[in-house]
Amino acid sequence: MEDKNIQPDQQEDPALYKARFAQLLKRRKMFFGSLIIYIPIMWVMQQLAPKSMLTAFGIWVVIMVAVMLYSALAVCPRCGNYFHMNGMTLLYFRKCLHCQLHVKDNKQS
Ligand SMILES: [Zn+2]
Repeated sequence: MEDKNIQPDQQEDPALYKARFAQLLKRRKMFFGSLIIYIPIMWVMQQLAPKSMLTAFGIWVVIMVAVMLYSALAVCPRCGNYFHMNGMTLLYFRKCLHCQLHVKDNKQS
């Protein structure tokens, strides 16, 4: 992988860095939240209205795709590239796919 956009010595506004980090964490939470909520939704639908399970599944898929796109466009606070996307590759790792910034490493270096 070659990344021409990495600028490790880039001096950025600390407020912008914090805002981007908060946005990244929020979008990751949304993604994993909507992924995890699948099982409780399907269980509740099976108890209440088993015939509507396919509809509920369809709605969940639509929501999941929207949240996935939204979280895929989260920008890395350090390098400014998409945190979870490198070219056409979308991976929800805990490190930036460009500069290897970890999601727990929220100190600006
Ligand atoms: Zn990065």
